[in-house]
Amino acid sequence: MSELKGKTALVTGAAKGIGRAAAIKLAEMGANVAINYYSSQKEANNTVNHLKDFGVESISYQADVGDLGQVTKMVEDVTEQLGQIDILVNNAGIIDDGLLLRMSDEAWSRVINTNLNGTFYCSRAVLRTMVRSRWGRIINIGSVVGLRGNIGQTNYTASKAAINGFTFALAKEVATRNITVNTVTPGYIHTDTVDVLSDKQKDTIMTWIPMAHFGEVDDIAHMIAYLASEKAKYITGQIISVDGGMAI
Ligand code: NDP
Repeated sequence: MSELKGKTALVTGAAKGIGRAAAIKLAEMGANVAINYYSSQKEANNTVNHLKDFGVESISYQADVGDLGQVTKMVEDVTEQLGQIDILVNNAGIIDDGLLLRMSDEAWSRVINTNLNGTFYCSRAVLRTMVRSRWGRIINIGSVVGLRGNIGQTNYTASKAAINGFTFALAKEVATRNITVNTVTPGYIHTDTVDVLSDKQKDTIMTWIPMAHFGEVDDIAHMIAYLASEKAKYITGQIISVDGGMAI
């Protein structure tokens, strides 16, 4: 389980949920991991301590992925402390739901800025060194909602569908440099966001999922770890659903 030894990963929004699970898997595989967080400092530090148990180096780093200046500084600082970033997991994401007729400019912009611009800023910031070293993995976290839409989520759906297009285009740009770019699209996964839904909402969602149950964070983390590994070296530009069949 040391196939990523010597590599450095940056996982955005990794203090908890899917990002944390992905960071743990990458550390298990031997990678040094930077845990980016926005507000969850305590959870981020707990995650760092947990990762160190695997004998890898890990740091937490506070930054807003939707702020170009903060992203640039984060990538510089992480590179200085852990070495050049070989694996980027663009996981940070938010929702701010509402029907389009009532959606504020702020709700629209905030979601697009964090989910889509954040993916752009972080990817561009790590790409130059990946190109130079002729090895890299960019793994974006999309959503099943970006494939089929959802009432009240035009902003979130647009941001996640755009990440799919971003994946296709960037994968083509960097393919000859041995850099793969893929997107994992989770269905409904047991996390803070999903667990607070009402029983009525959960019952409705369950009718959309052929496997009739929610996923676990590790279902997504395993796919992220696989895409980061050498086993996935010939996979690029793909949108991979891990959703109990919901996108069918
Ligand atoms: P969480 O809310 O647990 O994790 C999202 C993380 O994003 C948070 O920890 C948060 O950090 C971080 N974040 C939010 N805004 C920013 C920002 N501006 N800069 C840096 N970090 C930020 O949710 P999940 O684990 O569920 O979601 C992870 C990803 O998976 C998201 O992209 C989400 O859209 C996607 N997804 C999740 C699904 C699910 O069912 N859970 C389904 C489909 C997609 P902090 O806590 O430090 O503020």
